[in-house]
Amino acid sequence: MNSFTNSKDAYKEAVDLMPGGVNSPVRAFKSVGMSPIFMESGKGSKIKDIDGNEYIDYVLSWGPLLLGHADDRVVEKLKQTAEKGTSFGAPTLLENELAQLVIDRVPSIEMVRMVNSGTEATMSALRIARGYTGKDKILKFEGNYHGHGDSLLIKAGSGVATLGLPDSPGVPKSIAQNTITVPYNDMESVRYAFEQYGDDIAAVIVEPVSGNMGVVPPKGNFLHELRTITNEHGTVLIFDEVMTGFRVGYHCAQGHFGVTPDMTCLGKVIGGGLPVGAYGGKREIMEKVAPTGSIYQAGTLSGNPLAMTAGLETLKAVDESSYQEISKKVDRLMEGFSKAAEEFNIPLHINRAGSMVGVFFTDEEVTNFATAQSANLDYFAQYYRAMIEEGVFLPPSQFEGIFLSTAHTDEDIDYTINAIRKAFSKIK
Ligand code: PMP
Repeated sequence: MNSFTNSKDAYKEAVDLMPGGVNSPVRAFKSVGMSPIFMESGKGSKIKDIDGNEYIDYVLSWGPLLLGHADDRVVEKLKQTAEKGTSFGAPTLLENELAQLVIDRVPSIEMVRMVNSGTEATMSALRIARGYTGKDKILKFEGNYHGHGDSLLIKAGSGVATLGLPDSPGVPKSIAQNTITVPYNDMESVRYAFEQYGDDIAAVIVEPVSGNMGVVPPKGNFLHELRTITNEHGTVLIFDEVMTGFRVGYHCAQGHFGVTPDMTCLGKVIGGGLPVGAYGGKREIMEKVAPTGSIYQAGTLSGNPLAMTAGLETLKAVDESSYQEISKKVDRLMEGFSKAAEEFNIPLHINRAGSMVGVFFTDEEVTNFATAQSANLDYFAQYYRAMIEEGVFLPPSQFEGIFLSTAHTDEDIDYTINAIRKAFSKIK
């Protein structure tokens, strides 16, 4: 048995200092019946906690660490940048460089604005879409999570789903009224919403692969049909690629599925483990943002040199083949899951899109939030705790995906598959 004495002591101290002892609810480990594990260090695919336990890490800071932890190239450049000053409040060349790279790789982005988190990116994109169209309503999908902005914290996924808090207190009714929610992958409901409110809908915001109710890919022509209906109504189509951006593929989910939205939100990988978000899109829309246009959005630390450096070095280190390599490892991992489920008679449904993968403890096909909720959470918690004992660190919720990096080795995958077998053999 691993010892978690130091983590438990740290947690005791932390609960008096921070709500739930954490700075983000998804770190609470509540739904798997554990208290938070405090981390000390990471290198490549491995992390170590403050009790000295080592894990193969499939959380990767919830997605950003495409190269794994403390990649030498990233760390070296960060040191060099830090020595030159950490923030100026005036433009730097690093911002041009990252903006150019994003514009080159993301089909929908002709101009981009850097912010500090995914939440800021989606909140800002909505304001721009509303200001651009002069309309107030937005349409989002149940179980999609777009950060904690008021308009978007309605029937959301991620920690909100894990903790069973679908509509947070504190979001004014007057704001919630302007958010229409419909089931993911359900074009009939989207059409109905447009019949009811078509002329008032400023934006449809969607995770092109949902990663916040577990991993749920778009079905059939879902994304194409969203493109068509938004075009028909003069509605801005926003892809929230905070999770999928530079993760599902080199040209993000929009490149992978061949659908180009009007605006795109980015986060996670674009900051390579430092706080970065971004939103961008058509020039015509982006030119409405201040100071060119009159829609206001700003940030003291936006485009911060350290954050730009980590993002740039991460993105420069990968090419199309890096994603294929990660995908191959995902293939093997999926095969391991399937075989273990069969061997131990565990109900398991696996979803994947590119290098994004999620497993649900259910026999049902998972295509939306309702079917994701058919998963057996008790099985998940048992599996989770057994995996921790085996030294495999996973997101502590059924409603999250697994992330791999270029640093994960075939040995890591073999070890993990063996751990899955042991975990499944113990599930009661
Ligand atoms: N959008 C999506 C799709 C996300 O997955 C997340 C975070 N998990 C966010 C937005 C919010 O990003 P942040 O936590 O950086 O504010």
